[in-house]
Parts: sequence; C-alpha cells; structure tokens
Amino acid sequence: MRSLETLLDLFRQNGLKITAQRRMILELLVNDDSHPTAEQVYRRILETIPDISRTTVYNTLGELTDLGELTPVHNISGRGQRYDTNQETHHHLHCVECHELLDISRDYERMDLSLEEASGYRILRHQVTFFGICPDCQTRRGDHAADEDGRQLLMQSAPDTE
Ligand SMILES: [Zn+2]
Ligand SMILES: [Zn+2]
Repeated sequence: MRSLETLLDLFRQNGLKITAQRRMILELLVNDDSHPTAEQVYRRILETIPDISRTTVYNTLGELTDLGELTPVHNISGRGQRYDTNQETHHHLHCVECHELLDISRDYERMDLSLEEASGYRILRHQVTFFGICPDCQTRRGDHAADEDGRQLLMQSAPDTE
C-alpha cells in the first residue's frame, strides 16, 4: 500500500474529507498485510475509537477499493470478504486451518489460458493460491512435515468487469 501521506492526498483530490476516523483506518491499513476482513478492521479501530460506526469503516474500505488502493480478495477462507493492501502483482499462500494469507512474489507471467480454456473471457489478471498448513498450525497438530498431498493450486481469473 502507498504511504499514509499519499493516501491522504488521494482522498483530498477526490473530495473526500479527512476525518480522524478515516485517518485512523488508513493508518491501520498502511501497516496491515494480513488481508483483513472489514469486520476485523472495524474491531481493531473500535479499540481506539469506541464510538466509530461499522458503516464508517465499511464505507471507507469501499472508497479505498474504488480508488484502487485495496483489492477485495476472493473468499477462500469462508470468512467473508477480505481486503488486500498489496497492489503489486503477487500470489498467495493460504493456511487452511488458521486462514493466514501470506503474499508471495513470484513470476507466473507465462501461466496462460488457451482461447478455448478462457471461454471467451478477456483475462485481466491471474493469481495463484497455494493451500497448506502453516508452521504454527503444524506444531499445534503435532505434524512436523508439510502435508504435500494437501497442497492444491487454484487459479483465479477475474472476469471483465468493465
Ligand atoms: Zn495456520
Ligand atoms: Zn495479497
């Protein structure tokens, strides 16, 4: 995510008022690479601003998404919409137990679909998710080796939304 100052400028340029609440939400997100849900952001803000409304948090996340600073992440954990603060091309490592979602930087540029496989879609981007069990969860389960068979590869292709 870009710096707090850049985000504040972007808000101003788009005629959005910088309230203490919005500023707080931006501050929190700038340092958050955990792909939080809107509800998680709301609960964290609540610790500092006990009277913030859920609507304010959800609206601010929506504004950031509209500005292209947040990307909603495909729901792979079954826990609602998550937000990605990383706007660079990247891929994911997902723990199926604790739902941790880590960014991976790796070049999958050449991973492509044939015209037939793409079913007429104009492909905009692709993102690879590796499913596994993180070291902490392995320790909790008493496993000491990664479960190779449990690893899957999922291709996500966003349809043309224009
Ligand atoms: Zn885990
Ligand atoms: Zn990510």
